[in-house]
Amino acid sequence: MIGQLKDNKIQLKRIFIESTLPDALQPLKVLANNIWWSWNKEAIALFEYIDKEQYIALRYNPVALLEQLSPKRAEELVNDKDFLQRLQGVVREFEAYIAVSPEAGSPKIAYFSMEYGLHISLRLYSGGLGVLAGDYLKEASDDNSNMIAVGLLYRYGYFEQAISLHGDQINNFPPQKFTKLPIQPVRDEQGEWVKISVGLKGRMVYAKVWELKVGRISLYLLDTDIDENEWHDRSLTHQLYGGDNEHRLRQEILLGIGGIRALRALGYDDADIYHCNEGHAAFLNLERLKNYIQHEGMSYEMALETVRSSSLFTTHTPVPAGHDYFHEDLLREYLYSYAAELGIEWSRFVALGKIDPHNHDELFSMSHLAIRLSQEVNGVSELHGAVSQKMFKVLYPGYHPEELHLGYVTNSVHYPTWIAKEWNDLYLETFGNGFLRDQSNKEYWRKIHNVPSEQIMGIRRKLKARLLDYVRETMQEDLTRRGENPRSIFELINAIKDNALVIGFARRFATYKRAHLLFTNLERLSSIVSNSDRPIIFLFAGKAHPADGGGQGLIKHIIDVSKRPEFRGKVIFLENYNMEMAKLLVQGVDIWLNTPTRPKEASGTSGMKAALNGVMNFSVLDGWWAEGYRPDAGWALPLERTYDNQDLQNELDAESIYNILEFDILPTYYEQDENGISEKWVSYIRQIIAEVAPDFTMKRMLDHYYERFYHKLAQRGRALRADNYAGARQVAKWKHTMEQRWDRIELAQADTFDSDNRALQVGEHFYADLKLYLNGVSAEDVGVEVVFFSRVDEEVLKLQFKEELELKEVKDGVATYHCELDPKLAGVYEYGFRAFPKSGQLAHRQDLPLVKWL
Ligand SMILES: *Cc1c(COP(=O)(O)O)cnc(C)c1O
Repeated sequence: MIGQLKDNKIQLKRIFIESTLPDALQPLKVLANNIWWSWNKEAIALFEYIDKEQYIALRYNPVALLEQLSPKRAEELVNDKDFLQRLQGVVREFEAYIAVSPEAGSPKIAYFSMEYGLHISLRLYSGGLGVLAGDYLKEASDDNSNMIAVGLLYRYGYFEQAISLHGDQINNFPPQKFTKLPIQPVRDEQGEWVKISVGLKGRMVYAKVWELKVGRISLYLLDTDIDENEWHDRSLTHQLYGGDNEHRLRQEILLGIGGIRALRALGYDDADIYHCNEGHAAFLNLERLKNYIQHEGMSYEMALETVRSSSLFTTHTPVPAGHDYFHEDLLREYLYSYAAELGIEWSRFVALGKIDPHNHDELFSMSHLAIRLSQEVNGVSELHGAVSQKMFKVLYPGYHPEELHLGYVTNSVHYPTWIAKEWNDLYLETFGNGFLRDQSNKEYWRKIHNVPSEQIMGIRRKLKARLLDYVRETMQEDLTRRGENPRSIFELINAIKDNALVIGFARRFATYKRAHLLFTNLERLSSIVSNSDRPIIFLFAGKAHPADGGGQGLIKHIIDVSKRPEFRGKVIFLENYNMEMAKLLVQGVDIWLNTPTRPKEASGTSGMKAALNGVMNFSVLDGWWAEGYRPDAGWALPLERTYDNQDLQNELDAESIYNILEFDILPTYYEQDENGISEKWVSYIRQIIAEVAPDFTMKRMLDHYYERFYHKLAQRGRALRADNYAGARQVAKWKHTMEQRWDRIELAQADTFDSDNRALQVGEHFYADLKLYLNGVSAEDVGVEVVFFSRVDEEVLKLQFKEELELKEVKDGVATYHCELDPKLAGVYEYGFRAFPKSGQLAHRQDLPLVKWL
């Protein structure tokens, strides 16, 4: 007997039992498998109706919900006529939506991003960059853009945050079960799962391709956690922003090079535009270069023109941690043979990401690589565009920051995702038909002025109550889990007052966002929150990167403050910020607070989500708020810094926050009539809805990308590709000639207004005649201009104006350029002359950034 038991080893096989939904409920599965449901209020309501408690417990994941649906509940639903009818309605809407194809001839865009924030149930994002990419795809779908997207499928994604009793951040990495995500394997014609490979340090690493449907748009996700790979390589797609610098390099090779291979394997190697969302994906253009060289027989230079003419790079932050750098030695281990395949020397390869290619220790910048391989580059707000010009001016010596061909499109948010159902119902009813397809048109939004104050405040109160219920519930759970004593939990929950003014602050806890600013002077803050006639609650949430000790310190500090008796129930930190919590917060608070260090907030988008929902912003005039702020629709801290010393600046900013809170915000909010309504407050709500929100809807942002970049790129890309790439060949040849000969140009003689010895009288003309030895360069290919600056301080010059000189004659290899101008301005200026390559074939001045000051 005993012997038998010994031999009786447990033998297990794996089986996947698919749930079978009754036929009548099958359409739910179709809906669950396209993330479109997540921005359709009626579809959300259906899933909630099935089993709200379970739905929330499953993190709003309808695939999981349907899989776990009990036969009993299924039967109830099958017999629920009203439910089935609503289901049919949503399915009809979905089918009609999906059936539309992009307009013929609209440019085809391939969008690459390291992260996508589409929904809480898809942990493929860490913060704003991802949410922006997710919102963008949703709008591209709604707007019927011809777009496909590429990213990585993370087994563990970004971490889930818990907080210990002592306020330390705990990073959890629960795995995602791919069978419970709305993703499908991509199969080829033989029915085989499409698989690509990239060489990483001499070893082949394989990735399978999944498809995630975002409405009409396909997002292709690469997954290396497959049997074909060794353990080390399987973990390549485990975490978002995890691991060391080498790990990041490996991920980026997979995303960029592997991403293009995936598109090629799917037959999509014909996009008109490749949009690189942040520098992580910049290797994609290397693989495109290689394809042109190997498959089209192009020279490196010609391939470069072809690639550049169809590439857009969006840079997202001036904060150094947001830009990836790799040491040349590391890069060599991975890409040395790749450079050889491009047919270029290693030094020329590393020059793509460096300022000085001969400086061995200068790190290779992914942003510089992205810029050099893209014709168009943009920042994400007007201010950030200018900041980026300064940051990248090192790439263009001889040019002034404002002259750089680096534009901007201000970020935005996807209206259907972030709007509360209650507001959406009101807007649709009040604004009328056409509003949804014309979201940036203020004429619609201004109809909010016809809505009575009671109705507006009714919605606001309802959303606040929903948020505070959530806060009580989660605090009860979180604090119990932490082992907090029941009495203080009870006191805290009781201290949360429904009629309080609620201020929210939630975002990644990067130190530049200064989450601690409010706590600079605790006595002052305490006196503000202790007035029981004017209750006030501060809600904080956000994750700090696991490697960011500073950010984690800020969280701990806030937790400590929140435990003090005077702040109990008034300062609250909510664990594990995510997109669902973000919705509750931006819809439920009265004020959204943002206090970044200037000018480091490139855009910020959570405040826009708040604005859509009639929530006031109180923020530093940085990023989007510098464009969105109006004095009758929110509050601001000034744009300019007063102090160079950051500590002094922090103190001053904190002081301003206390003053504005105490003497402006609180009195405005609490100046209430007998119905508890402050008319002034409601007028602010109306203003932010009517005048601010419409400028920050994703529709406007998508339109701007088309107007400013996509159309232009599509046109130039086509022009260069036509006639078997004749245009690309020509541009490459011309640039090559100019580069070879540029240094030969010399100033022969200058005859200009004598500014050394006398002042130019207003009304008098400034003139210049410059003679250049061209030494083999054609005079038509050389532009000469005069540039006037005014001096701001020792280091900073401000460009005032420039004017091109006219080519007068060419004689014996000497070209004469002339100008005569009336400056019309009085004052002291500094001016100079410079030559630049000139051709109708260039997309813009920095397309060939040679310049010679004369
Ligand atoms: C919108 C959003 C962000 C971005 O917020 P910022 O204001 O840009 O910092 C980050 N995380 C989540 C979960 C969001 O929903």
